[in-house]
Amino acid sequence: MTKVSTDDLATRFGTRAVHAGHIPDPLAGAVMTPIYQTSTYVQEGLGKHKGYEYARTRNPTREVLERNIAALEGGRHGFAFASGLAAVDAVLKLLSHGDHVVSGENVYGGTHRQMTHIWARYGLEFSFVDAGDAGNVAAAVTPRTRLIYAETPTNPMMRLCDLQAVGEIARDANAWCVVDNTFATPCFQRPLELGADIVLHSTTKYLNGHSDMVGGVVVVNSDDLAERIGFIQNASGAVPGPFDCWLALRGTKTLALRMRQHDVNGRRIAEWLTKHPKVQRVYYPGLPSHPQHDLACRQMKGFGGMISIELGSVERARRFVERTKIFALAESLGGVESLVGHPASMTHASVPLVMRRAMGLTDSLVRLSVGIEDVDDLIADLEQALDAAG
Ligand SMILES: *Cc1c(COP(=O)(O)O)cnc(C)c1O
Repeated sequence: MTKVSTDDLATRFGTRAVHAGHIPDPLAGAVMTPIYQTSTYVQEGLGKHKGYEYARTRNPTREVLERNIAALEGGRHGFAFASGLAAVDAVLKLLSHGDHVVSGENVYGGTHRQMTHIWARYGLEFSFVDAGDAGNVAAAVTPRTRLIYAETPTNPMMRLCDLQAVGEIARDANAWCVVDNTFATPCFQRPLELGADIVLHSTTKYLNGHSDMVGGVVVVNSDDLAERIGFIQNASGAVPGPFDCWLALRGTKTLALRMRQHDVNGRRIAEWLTKHPKVQRVYYPGLPSHPQHDLACRQMKGFGGMISIELGSVERARRFVERTKIFALAESLGGVESLVGHPASMTHASVPLVMRRAMGLTDSLVRLSVGIEDVDDLIADLEQALDAAG
């Protein structure tokens, strides 16, 4: 378990991103956190050691990352995992056979797959609802509900979930409110401050921000939850290696800076796309035309670089994603470089067709992860690809 210091929580976001969790290396005073590439630690005598015995349980590089991200989320305890899905896995291990979960239906495809193909076999029960309307979440709660799971904005439909409302529903039901904050990042949205009990991330995305590692993190405030998640982290063992922790840590230092640029570029491009005749619909919470724009302004400080567009035909969508030059056709999101993806055949291929249809995820929907490049180059790239798409 890695606890955040009150000094770190006293600073503002941009300062936290650079400094929170760091302690000068005790051996040489290294300003940057060393990569403790070791599986074990020497003991002076039986039971006499510096608190580090084995690297699955504790690793100094990992602990700095855990403290850093926890502080960014305004939480007191952080736990790093080998991937975002390993973080989801650890959170669901809080539950027991027969427990019930209410989840947003439009959660990350891999999360939905884990819930339905793995956890359902172990006796967890799931109700998937459109969490864009908190009333649906409340209506799905049963006496056995122990956990409410939400993502906001959702991928790729950019639907929002009212975190304050869902947090209250969870409290009334005596259930934990879990929020996957990967899309918004703590730079723009801090679920713990709005009433969530647990925040998780795929650090693979914006937190690392450079598309060079895979990882996950869980942040909580309560000591009781920290005890439980810490036990699961060590007992199940899906921990990240020190080098990946170091890469994620290098990424979070520039999070505030990067998110500002993702947001500026995202807004400009979303606005531009709404005026393009070949784009039938733009999904972006920063647009006043977004049906939940007011909620977005209430619970988010920025809207970031994730945009989905409806191109009207599968053929046009295919031609478009194959013709962008700066936007690389690839899975994933949140890096400094712009990416384009086709959710129906890529990220969301594991979501059943009926569910994709129900949430409006058509075969002609394209998702953009707008990077931090010069926005005029990005717009020129989209323009030529839309022209070429016919
Ligand atoms: C990518 C992603 C995950 C899964 O994370 P991995 O690091 O790929 O395991 C979970 N939630 C969201 C919103 C994601 O984008």
